[in-house]
Amino acid sequence: MNIILKIGDKGDQVRWLQRKLRIMDDGWFGVITEKAVKDYQRENDLLVDGIAGPKTLATLGLQTGNAAQWICVHVSATPENATSIDARWVKNYHMGIMKWNKPGYHFVIEQDGTLVELWKLDLSDGIQKQETTYGIGGWRDAAAVNICLIGGLNSHGQPKDTRTPEQRKTLDALTKALLKEAPAAKLVGHNQFWNKACPCFSVPKWAKETLRLKDENIETQDPFGYARTFNA
Ligand SMILES: [Zn+2]
Repeated sequence: MNIILKIGDKGDQVRWLQRKLRIMDDGWFGVITEKAVKDYQRENDLLVDGIAGPKTLATLGLQTGNAAQWICVHVSATPENATSIDARWVKNYHMGIMKWNKPGYHFVIEQDGTLVELWKLDLSDGIQKQETTYGIGGWRDAAAVNICLIGGLNSHGQPKDTRTPEQRKTLDALTKALLKEAPAAKLVGHNQFWNKACPCFSVPKWAKETLRLKDENIETQDPFGYARTFNA
């Protein structure tokens, strides 16, 4: 649900907006409210149009979607030497073959480090229902950003940390960018929620040792022991 408040609107949402702007909260969006919105937008480097849309409302502190709780890392579970596997293959597998109505991941990082956005996500107002993906499986996806690295298996089909230097670079940068927009989110590997190898390396170790994230940004639950036994 994207809320937009503009001149002529009235009601409790306008009242909320007026309180945030520290003007009289009569619940009517008139010229005074419009001017206050414009002043606020100017001061906050937003588009100055006098309309309180998702960006302006989010900057004012209105969460309309779920706050991102997890940034979950996955692999495509394809052999490292399968060079034809890319983001398009993943999307086609989920939506074309499995017939899902959306893909499993928001982002895919191909073996050459190319970042592909598979599903539109604007974190500035939280994760809206239509912005969710199916990466983790179950209720957690409502508050999760899902990232998939192409690879995860050796040429015999066994779990392996197959991240290329280019993939590592992209993943590190993407993670940091996402945390800027969702500072309370925790990094986690799929195998910390389900008994499966995905993403075939230890996300907590990597988050701590390589990214040097704060403890509150690292999910530590590890009921199946993968995060303890895999390397960073
Ligand atoms: Zn996974």
